[in-house]
Parts: sequence; structure tokens; C-alpha cells
Amino acid sequence: MSGANTKKSLNLAEIYKSVQGETSFTGLPTTFVRLAKCNLRCHWCDTPHSFGKGKPVALQDITAKAEEFGCKHICITGGEPLLQENVYPLMDQFCELGFIVSLETGGSISTQRVNSRIHTILDIKCPGSGMSDKNHWENLNRLRDHDEVKFVVKDENDYNYSLDICKKYALFSRQKQVLLSPVHGLLDPKELINWILRDKIPARLNLQIHKLIWPPKMLGV
Ligand code: SF4
Repeated sequence: MSGANTKKSLNLAEIYKSVQGETSFTGLPTTFVRLAKCNLRCHWCDTPHSFGKGKPVALQDITAKAEEFGCKHICITGGEPLLQENVYPLMDQFCELGFIVSLETGGSISTQRVNSRIHTILDIKCPGSGMSDKNHWENLNRLRDHDEVKFVVKDENDYNYSLDICKKYALFSRQKQVLLSPVHGLLDPKELINWILRDKIPARLNLQIHKLIWPPKMLGV
């Protein structure tokens, strides 16, 4: 780790290794770095344990832990990881070490400063989350080819909203990965895939496979 970063730290909710349950990286062994705090309160949030202050951990200790876990893929998530300034040097450091890094962001904060080597997984909040007025729309214009857009869908109203956004920003032609994720326990995945097939859209059904493998509320998996 570069000398400038040795004294920097981040407030962590947890760090662990497991299988990636979502996105185009589904199924791959991954180290999860979950940062504390979130500026949003989605009705269906499945990670409220990240809302607190977390525990300060030095960047060099986070990096050392990731190296010890030995997964090629790292997922930086939250909470909202972009709330903490030191996430930027951490992402840069992981890239320099050769990890493949994805960043899961709730979509309310600008992604302008995110290293171009990072795979940004950009949430667009649908009305069912109660947070759709917080979307930072400019983020959609700066998506790179390897970035992914995710909509968590609670009902058909959310699905139609997702479709409208995809059309407005031409996401299906610009974006390789548009992820539609049913809210676990609230929307039957069969309904969502039926709508996708009915409308002939090239979206990916994004199931959270860790919730199929382990109990849905289990932490650290
Ligand atoms: S942005 Fe993510 S962590 Fe924050 S409330 Fe919504 S689902 Fe939960």
C-alpha cells in the first residue's frame, strides 16, 4: 500500500468471503467489503445492519484481509460505499493489486470519481423502494461498457417504471447488463420473468442466489 494511504481508514460493517449472489459475476468466489452508513432507507432494504457507524479499519488491513481470503473478485458494497471519501483510494489500491472490483452503489451519489477499471453496479431506485426521488440521473450518462444497471422490482408498477427508464436512457442498446431483481419474498420471480419474456426485453433476471443457498436473513454470506 502506498505511504499516503497507510493512515487512512474506512468504517466497515463487515468483511467476509462468500459466493457472489448477483450481477453478471453471480456464482464467483468473492470478498465482500461492506461499508457502514447509508443515506437512503429503501422500504425493502436487506442490509439494515449497515446503517450504523461501523468499525474503523485501516485501508492496509482491509487490503491484507482481501489478500488473505484469496478471491480474485472483490465487491465493495454497503450501505452506500460512496459516502466515505477513503473508498476511492481503497478501490484504486485493489485495482493496482490486480483484483477485479465491483462497486454496488444505491445510485443517489455521483459516480464521476470512480476509477474506470471498477465495475459499477448502479442501482436505480424504483417507486416501491420509496427512494425514487433520490436517483442521481447523471450517473446513467456516464456508464461504461462494463458497468451494470440494476432495478429492484417490487411489483408491476416498479417493472413498468424500469422499462420507462431503460427506454428513456436507451439502456438496452447501450448497456450489456440490465438487471431486474425481484424483491425477495414480495415478488415471485416467475411473475417477473413472465413480464420480461412477454415484453421481449434483453434484461437479465437477477436472483440473489445466496438467499437460495442460505437462510435469506443470514449475515456474512
Ligand atoms: S441503498 Fe441499499 S443499503 Fe441503503 S437503504 Fe437502500 S437497499 Fe439498504
